Amino acid sequence: MPRLSVAFEKKIPRRVRCPNTMVGYYPQLQEGELLYSATARLASAIFPGRKAPYCAERLLGNRHASFGVLLPNNVNRLIENIPAVSALTEESVLRASLFHLISPLLDEVERTELRRSVFVPNARNGLRTFNARGSPTVLKYCVKCAQIDADRRKPAIWRTVQNHHGAIACAKHGLLLQFSKAPVSTDALCAASDWIDLGVEPTVATDAEVAIARDFEWIHAQYSSLTPGFRPVVAKLREVILSKMEFTLGPGLANNASLLQAMRDSLSDSSRSTFAPQFRRLARGCGLSMGTRTTLHAYCLYAYMAGTSLKQVLADLAKIPALPKSEAADSKSANGPHIRFYKHRIEKFIQANSFSTRSQVSAALCHGVEIVRSADPEWFDHNMPESQSNKPGPHGDRNWNNRDEKLCAFISNFVATNDSLPFRSIRDALIKLKQPQGLLIKANGRLPKTRVLLESLIEPKRAAA
Ligand SMILES: [Zn+2]
Repeated sequence: MPRLSVAFEKKIPRRVRCPNTMVGYYPQLQEGELLYSATARLASAIFPGRKAPYCAERLLGNRHASFGVLLPNNVNRLIENIPAVSALTEESVLRASLFHLISPLLDEVERTELRRSVFVPNARNGLRTFNARGSPTVLKYCVKCAQIDADRRKPAIWRTVQNHHGAIACAKHGLLLQFSKAPVSTDALCAASDWIDLGVEPTVATDAEVAIARDFEWIHAQYSSLTPGFRPVVAKLREVILSKMEFTLGPGLANNASLLQAMRDSLSDSSRSTFAPQFRRLARGCGLSMGTRTTLHAYCLYAYMAGTSLKQVLADLAKIPALPKSEAADSKSANGPHIRFYKHRIEKFIQANSFSTRSQVSAALCHGVEIVRSADPEWFDHNMPESQSNKPGPHGDRNWNNRDEKLCAFISNFVATNDSLPFRSIRDALIKLKQPQGLLIKANGRLPKTRVLLESLIEPKRAAA
């Protein structure tokens, strides 16, 4: 550590010079402001012209701490060292960082580790592990937001969501963000007022860019209450992408080239060049793989290409838990929101791909098709394309509808000519009818009339249970 000149030492108030003593003042965080931004405002007022390590040492007693644009570290020190009136808490610090934008794609253990890393001195290790690729190089701002701040005589600030490296546009004003010349570096604390140019002519963003910006704002505003993790999100995105014929090469195979081309086309010229390195990475095919993570905005773009949004994907994952099979097979749930959602998906797919066969629909929407088939076999048979293999197989009629009818006729006939009623249970009924005991389980909801008929023939107490 270089020794400070005695003359300068004298100018620093004693309470600031000593680590772990109160810093007299810390700016009130503005709405949506980065912790970095407020700290830079403070630094430019009390340590003008000094570099970030110097300010960190004066404020935190440790020149290796950082107020990082992505994530700060050693923040406990800051919280302890400033007056309580500044109302800086662990929660407000996380809100004023990119934590809530990074965490939805992390698994629980990673999320906990990342959170911890904000409050201990070695956050850079945490960041190296979790920081999505392609870190920002300069700070960004929306001219319109900055002009409004200036009109209202509010301080110029760097906004949190706009400074995620994938942020392209301002969701509120539909304008592309401006790249300032303020470097993102652990060495510099750049106060927004020094770097924002209010005279810049903004460019209107494309629909895709505004959609991504809205996704970012929404995800951040959830404060990590929706955190499904990386794998479920990617699995869901794969599913929606594969339901689009133009992005599919065959069952389960995404057409990465056409997907990337569509993603490029949906962006404005400047965003396309900004994201060129990330597109190059996606071109190597890692975008929808379970093994490789890509950036938040790439996932937003994937969702946009599939006609949905990452917001919707996250909300779906949070709202609709996977139903156990027995529950899905219950005919009462045939019109539940879960089933309606998948029915709608199937209808949309068939509308868009009117010549697709049943197996193509099943391959494209595998999980959803199985759920609808179990929950509402009648709807399924009525709405799905005709199966190409309805001829009887070695184990009887493959058309479950016909089989259902035949079984009902057989049972009615049996009931009319036998007096072993009522059956004690479904199992008892199947044994007496000389049918396989696992028949209804194997049918997985595809013999609804048989099931209803059998249930009506069981002793009342049993049927109710
Ligand atoms: Zn704006």
